[in-house]
Amino acid sequence: MTASQFLEKKKILQRADFSQLIEAIRTKGYTLIGPVLTETAISFGEIHEETDLPIGWMDIQEPAKFQLKRREDEALFGYNVGFQSIKKYLFPPRQRLFSVEKKQGALFFIPEETPKEKYAFLGVRSCDLHAVFVQDKIFCKGSSYDPLYAKRRQEALIIVVQCGQASGCCFCRSMGTGPKAQEGFDLALTECIDRENHFFLVEIGSQRGEEIATLLPLREVTEEDLRLAQSHIQNALNQMRKKVNTESIKDLFYNNWEHPRWDDVAERCIGCSTCTMVCPTCFCWTVEDSSFVEGLKAERWRRWDFCYTMEFSHLPTGSVRSTLKSRYRQWLSHKFGSWIDQFGTSGCVGCGRCITWCPVGIDVTEELAALREKPDL
Ligand code: SF4
Ligand code: SF4
Repeated sequence: MTASQFLEKKKILQRADFSQLIEAIRTKGYTLIGPVLTETAISFGEIHEETDLPIGWMDIQEPAKFQLKRREDEALFGYNVGFQSIKKYLFPPRQRLFSVEKKQGALFFIPEETPKEKYAFLGVRSCDLHAVFVQDKIFCKGSSYDPLYAKRRQEALIIVVQCGQASGCCFCRSMGTGPKAQEGFDLALTECIDRENHFFLVEIGSQRGEEIATLLPLREVTEEDLRLAQSHIQNALNQMRKKVNTESIKDLFYNNWEHPRWDDVAERCIGCSTCTMVCPTCFCWTVEDSSFVEGLKAERWRRWDFCYTMEFSHLPTGSVRSTLKSRYRQWLSHKFGSWIDQFGTSGCVGCGRCITWCPVGIDVTEELAALREKPDL
């Protein structure tokens, strides 16, 4: 059966039966990762039971602002995106690549074992699903092929939650990545709540998703259910205020390399790298070698790195990008411009995290608009 034939299958899961979804996923041997509350935010963590989810919580996001607030209802997924995406599981911040052991004077190279964990990701938003598609282009083929990423990705079960609200920083609509996920998931849930009802519209997107769905007490969909689900997504669209004009966006950078806005943003940016840390598509890394004190073993580790650091572009003659202006310009123009030449897609999915979490409130949508307003041609 094709993915589109699976997608014709829509069913209803009642809120009272939601814990059976968690049970079904865990019964299939997955480590279930989903949204969890931290003291001040929402992140991803392991889910053992439904009470691990941020039930009844919402978030308020604006540039340089993230605030948790109680909702008036008991929605399980009534928030937007937390500060992390599922990138940290598929492409971990630190990863051993191989070890070297010295035995009887000879060196033995031992590749890292393929990951044993099999993840199910619950609560993935459409923007973050598109970020996974972007990282697939980087790590699943070509010169950056990463067998560890590819294995985790191949095993992963992805359960999308369709957005019913948008934060003050979301702009997925402009990037063509949301708010509704259309394909590429195993299951997609739309959480519907009104005065009398609380249920999930379940869309089945793959054989793997179907195997989970068969374990659930699902009922048939009515016209009224579909109407409620549609209004949920329309609500997200109505709330989305931020926009980006993506027309000829590559040329915007290629024609504005010396635009005065780069000096302006360099005055505000403190080079902390937070925007790259929270971005679900950024993939820069470095490698570090460590040796054990007895001299018989060494390891090579990969860890996330960031184009905002001087060291990232360090060559024997010094850093190629020695100013904050050049580093910010590199980040923004790669993400929205040259990424398209490199991977055939934008490096931005409009999740808004870099806007929310930038400590000085730099907003990529405003920077892009400013570049258009004063072209330096
Ligand atoms: S650049 Fe910003 S808005 Fe775009 S994907 Fe990265 S964090 Fe999200
Ligand atoms: S844009 Fe903001 S988050 Fe990114 S490096 Fe500059 S100050 Fe930090």
